Amino acid sequence: MNMRFLTRQTSKFRWIWLTIITCLLFSCALVFPDRAPKPPLQRNVILLIGDGYGFSHFEIARAVKQHVDNSTLAQINMMNQGNTGYISTPPENGLVPDSAAAGTALATGHKTENGVLSQSPDGTPYKTALEMAKARGMATGLVSTSYITDATPAAFSAHSPTRSAYANIAEQQLLITGVDVMMGGGREDFIPESESGSRRKDTRNLLTEAQAAGYTIVSTAAELARIDAAHAPRLLGLFAIHTMAFEIDRATTNEPSLALMTQKALDVLRLQPKGFFLMVEGARIDHAAHANDAAAVIRDVLAFDEAVRIVYQFAREHPETLLIVTADHETGGVALNYGATPDHLRLLMEQQRSVEAMMKEVGKPITAGALQSVVRRYTPFTLSDEEVEHVLAQQRPTPFLSNWASDLLAGVLSARYNVAWVSRSHTGEPLFAFGVGPGAEKLRGFHDNTYIGKIIASFLQEE
Ligand SMILES: [Zn+2]
Repeated sequence: MNMRFLTRQTSKFRWIWLTIITCLLFSCALVFPDRAPKPPLQRNVILLIGDGYGFSHFEIARAVKQHVDNSTLAQINMMNQGNTGYISTPPENGLVPDSAAAGTALATGHKTENGVLSQSPDGTPYKTALEMAKARGMATGLVSTSYITDATPAAFSAHSPTRSAYANIAEQQLLITGVDVMMGGGREDFIPESESGSRRKDTRNLLTEAQAAGYTIVSTAAELARIDAAHAPRLLGLFAIHTMAFEIDRATTNEPSLALMTQKALDVLRLQPKGFFLMVEGARIDHAAHANDAAAVIRDVLAFDEAVRIVYQFAREHPETLLIVTADHETGGVALNYGATPDHLRLLMEQQRSVEAMMKEVGKPITAGALQSVVRRYTPFTLSDEEVEHVLAQQRPTPFLSNWASDLLAGVLSARYNVAWVSRSHTGEPLFAFGVGPGAEKLRGFHDNTYIGKIIASFLQEE
């Protein structure tokens, strides 16, 4: 045995001992972990959906911000810091979706037929992102300016062969899925038939049942503003019997803005240790677009943008948050027409009531005098004799052409603003989707709308 061999052997043993000691230390670290409590696993998902919100709705609002307000949409700041892509929206067995099929795609990553909520057309339920979040112990929230049982929030919190099973959807949301925070309209689906305006056909009062289940219930903006988030971990805000008001009419009600509801939902949900899932819907963009009411559409897009501003700020401060902003389908096929100028946008922003509210004030039967005085009160225009005649010549609508006075007035005003429409319903226009936070880079490119649901599901299923 020569010395060189011995030295080599000693050095070899030293390495073996070092390895054994290192392994022992490492095992000890596993068996006796740091006594200090680990920070709770926080993981948040916030999804904002503009219902009926296409790129042209966005572009008109962007131009209004630039030329009338001399400012910028929060959505543009977010797009420029995050990841932006495009989605197409066809439902199963069709080309143009309704909010049930499109909501199902966003909520579950699966396609279904129009009218169906988060299940296959033959009834197989699809797990929703909100249910996945709940299974992780996360808090959950839904905010909408429509009735909270409407298709978009329902797609996240209920399963139904038909979107119109409102009373049943309300029960699922509150008592089966157990959504922690719900805010919107639709009190009619929670109160018994005996109370006026109810859509329930039984005697149940879900508000009483909700209270027993620990929900704090509010019904006005002032009550909501006073809520102490620390004492309202379960919050039910029902601010209207049916849909909430168009943003352009909201000052005449005591309803909260979409921004206030979003802020309050965040205030409550952020206190939960395991993170939260929140879906916020700017629902009335769609309804105003069905009515071809350009001024009402843009006010609701701007209200949606204020909600984006709030959640984007939150996501910047909480980088463990996946925030996605998108839409379910386009409504109206709206666009600025050739020849539109910033003056048209200034006029558009001078309209102070929705066409629906104006026609209600005109009353029935519609007279030229009442029509002219209401239009003068709430818009920058005096109608010409031809325009008055056009609106008064209303007819019963056919499936393809609605000629009610309100639609005709919406058409007259849109022409004055140089805004054009191709439809009074949904279109198959592709949509944008943009986001920040973990997984948002997957949004880049052109995808099917189910891909959004899949991105959220994979974030919620990661360990
Ligand atoms: Zn619609």
